[in-house]
Amino acid sequence: MEIEKRGTNLMFIAVLVTLLAVMGYLYYEYYTQNQKINMLLEERNYFLLENASSTHTLTEERELASSTIADLSERLALTLEELEDVERDLKKEEDRNEEFEDQIREISGTVGVLDKLSKTDEELLQKYSRTYFLNENFVPMKIRQIDAEYILPGKKDQYFHGDAIGFLTDMLDAAKRAGHDLKIISAYRSFDEQADLKGQYTQVYGSGSNAFSADQGYSEHQLGTTVDLTDPVTGGTYTSFAQTEAYAWLIENAHRYGFILSYPEDNGFYIYEPWHWRFVGVDLASDLHREDKSFYDLDQRQLDEYLISIFD
Ligand SMILES: [Zn+2]
Repeated sequence: MEIEKRGTNLMFIAVLVTLLAVMGYLYYEYYTQNQKINMLLEERNYFLLENASSTHTLTEERELASSTIADLSERLALTLEELEDVERDLKKEEDRNEEFEDQIREISGTVGVLDKLSKTDEELLQKYSRTYFLNENFVPMKIRQIDAEYILPGKKDQYFHGDAIGFLTDMLDAAKRAGHDLKIISAYRSFDEQADLKGQYTQVYGSGSNAFSADQGYSEHQLGTTVDLTDPVTGGTYTSFAQTEAYAWLIENAHRYGFILSYPEDNGFYIYEPWHWRFVGVDLASDLHREDKSFYDLDQRQLDEYLISIFD
């Protein structure tokens, strides 16, 4: 009985020890797990804190960046605006330059016309008759001696307007080719024919107005653009020139060289002068020929329009 009791006690102790061991182990396990969890929690907190602070920095940086971007955009906008202003100014400047160039072109065109006109004797297309007469002091700007081959033998040296002399000799050459030997009796005549030509340029003429009035036809000769023509057969017998073939050729062709018959038959201004031919330019001569009009049929305003092209 004693042995059985002891055995039971021993078993009880063993169970108790085992139970205690299990409990101790469980407690230990609980404790270490708890420690681990605490560490993890701490780590997590630390991480969260870290993140929180870095999130703050990022926000700040983002704010800074966006304000910088805003600043830059503003500056860029300003620069673009300035650029637009510059472009606008440049365009304006270009427009102004173009306008200026136009003006220059216009002015130089006008200057060209004025220059051309200023170098053209205004009197070259004036009417000269009993009512219109040429200033007695008038001397053409340019005068040149006509080659002797064109002058009627026995006549003195003759002179013609420097810008029209080519038209005159071309006409006489053309007539010659057509078989008409036209010769010049008289061309430029100053108020004082006896005086030396060079002297006539500067000389102030005396009262020659009576002689001028007595023979108005002479005034056209004073222009330096008028010639009295004949053929060697007719010679100086002026009026019979109208019956020659040379005259008929002139009637048909003189306008091509800018020449017209100043006083045709039955003109209302002056006696018929078939020998007396005046240079008025190809344009006017051709228009008069086509319209079968005489120089004195046109009014002065119409005639003036041809002055610019008289030597063209
Ligand atoms: Zn004449």
